[in-house]
Amino acid sequence: MTVDPLQNNQYNFQYILENYKEICYNVENAKAKYQSESSEVQIMAVTKTVEPEKINFAISQGVRLLGENRVQEYISKKDQYDSSAQVHFIGHLQTNKVKYIINDVSLIQSVDSVKLAAEINRLAQNNNKIMDVLIEVNVGNELSKSGIGYGDCVGLINEISQLENIKVKGLMAIPPIGCGEEEFERMHELFEKIKADKINGVSMDVLSMGMSGDYELAIKHGSNLVRIGTKLFGARKYFGG
Ligand SMILES: *Cc1c(COP(=O)(O)O)cnc(C)c1O
Repeated sequence: MTVDPLQNNQYNFQYILENYKEICYNVENAKAKYQSESSEVQIMAVTKTVEPEKINFAISQGVRLLGENRVQEYISKKDQYDSSAQVHFIGHLQTNKVKYIINDVSLIQSVDSVKLAAEINRLAQNNNKIMDVLIEVNVGNELSKSGIGYGDCVGLINEISQLENIKVKGLMAIPPIGCGEEEFERMHELFEKIKADKINGVSMDVLSMGMSGDYELAIKHGSNLVRIGTKLFGARKYFGG
């Protein structure tokens, strides 16, 4: 008989605690080395394909921010989550699905078009709230479907800043796999440039970049929110997106 390490038993989740401690340690070191000890870098636990029991264990050990990729999956899991962590949506978001998450997430990191922003704004208005968002930048200018092109970012932010119930709080990037440091630095420069522009209603607080394989490098280039899946919960068994 094979032992299922995913059994609903807290002792089997010990590796998550070990991983989390290591990530915290590395983040502290990278901060001290590249930013300052007092700067804040948020550690997000990316939850795709991960069972709610494991997610709650991570929360019990100090994780305060979850990242959700898929609307369907999130809806099926959210009621089981410990409510002491905040949730950001980080996956590609179709306009017609905004309504399913607008009241549950505290921030949407994947805004990359005026159309999507307008729908978020409309629903936020209907629900009497201001929705915080990040602009997802396609920093590698890959032919991938999500993310606004680097050169179109400022224009998009200017347009979104006109909308009353949506607030741009920063940028999110998923640099191409195996990219060099230049992409991180390009993002950092864009972030600082937009911050210096002081666009009305826009605050450049969050630079979300860095995942399991490159979070320390991302911190070196100004990231203050790292999104960690594999390094925290282990390899995903199925879909990777
Ligand atoms: C899956 C995912 C991550 C985490 O990736 P890992 O390499 O497993 O840490 C981060 N950001 C986004 C947008 C993701 O989809």
